[in-house]
Amino acid sequence: MDSGDSLLSVAEARARLLEHFHPLPTETIPLSECAGRVLAAEATAGADVPPFANSSMDGYAVRAAEARAGATLPVSADIPAGRGAPGPLAAGTAARIMTGAPLPPGADAVIPVEETDDSRRHAGGPAPKEVMFRQAARPGANVRPAGQDIRAGQVVLSAGRLITPAAVGVLASLGLAQVSVHRRPRVALFSTGDELREAGAALEPGTIHDTNSHSLAAAAGQLGAQAHRLAIAPDQLEAVRERLREARDTGADVIVSSAGVSVGAYDVVKAAVELDGRLSFWRVRMRPGKPLAFGQVHGVPYFGLPGNPVSALLTFEVFVRPALLKLAGRRDTGRVELEAVLSEELESDGRESYLRVVIRREAGAYTAYPAGDQGSAVLSTLVRANGLLILPAGVMRAQAGERHRVWLLEGAELA
Ligand code: AMP
Ligand code: MG
Repeated sequence: MDSGDSLLSVAEARARLLEHFHPLPTETIPLSECAGRVLAAEATAGADVPPFANSSMDGYAVRAAEARAGATLPVSADIPAGRGAPGPLAAGTAARIMTGAPLPPGADAVIPVEETDDSRRHAGGPAPKEVMFRQAARPGANVRPAGQDIRAGQVVLSAGRLITPAAVGVLASLGLAQVSVHRRPRVALFSTGDELREAGAALEPGTIHDTNSHSLAAAAGQLGAQAHRLAIAPDQLEAVRERLREARDTGADVIVSSAGVSVGAYDVVKAAVELDGRLSFWRVRMRPGKPLAFGQVHGVPYFGLPGNPVSALLTFEVFVRPALLKLAGRRDTGRVELEAVLSEELESDGRESYLRVVIRREAGAYTAYPAGDQGSAVLSTLVRANGLLILPAGVMRAQAGERHRVWLLEGAELA
């Protein structure tokens, strides 16, 4: 790991630190627990889904050529779902068939019951002796062929993807009871600062409640990581050192602290980390965001995030999030991105800026309205925002009407 100061772009800093993260080992878990996890090996279909041609309607299986409009055919069979393989359809006859029931050999279409003179819709009734068709059927009508959804041998889900509800359903339809996934990342988090008090504690003059260990734990949890919050560390070298040891003892894959990493007289975190590890201070051309501290302590990757609550969450978003997703085994670590039209002029300072915006859909395009005060201690505007508008490095002023990249924030709704 390099040491010393360097001026890095956001992309360079992210690429450098991501080199230190690799997908965690895999484990096999029950299908019922795999939602939200990351698939470790591609899922290949062992058989067709559905495994047999079946009816997509309640109706009558026929040979399409025999079932002209107005024709009456004798009913030779009754085929419910789930009762085994039916025999072949006798020539010149129809078979009553239910949705999901296997098509009898010889049949090539299903005519819905609504298109027949069969008015006995009540459950459990016997099939009629004969049936008249009001409509003809094209071959293949209302038939779901074997393998319509998934073909045997097909790769259905790639390794490294999030297991969404639909993916859980696909794994279930393949008949898998166990799923190989990556272990969830474990993150140990703590806040530093003499002025911080735990939630619920009364505030003496000059103190504030700890925001960051809670917001960062929530951000980690939202990614599927297991967050372990440790107690606040005061601005004392040995206290921070002790907290770093505790963090290691949780078995963390990543340690994250906030505050105490700038140039203040009581900023002891840097020294504490260097006693038991190594640290790189990177000046990243990012706003908000002070220098990003990254390194390792007790052999565990370590992030020192800025103390201001917005800076802490946004540096987590830009640097820690992709690292955790990479550990989790995800191939794609990016955000859903769209382009939005800026509603008003904005000033910047040449650093790559992440601005809190409210995105609204207007006249077929997305418009980005600044969510309010962009100060790095003003968390309420991050709550109000549903997106982060990214002004590229080098831009000093963005004009109303310009189009810019926007990341949609998780859980946010379009206004
Ligand atoms: P520092 O990085 O220690 O200079 O802190 C920068 C600013 O963030 C100061 O105003 C701190 O009081 C504030 N701050 C640091 N940590 C937290 C925290 N966990 N919760 C809320 N504010 C914090
Ligand atoms: Mg401080």
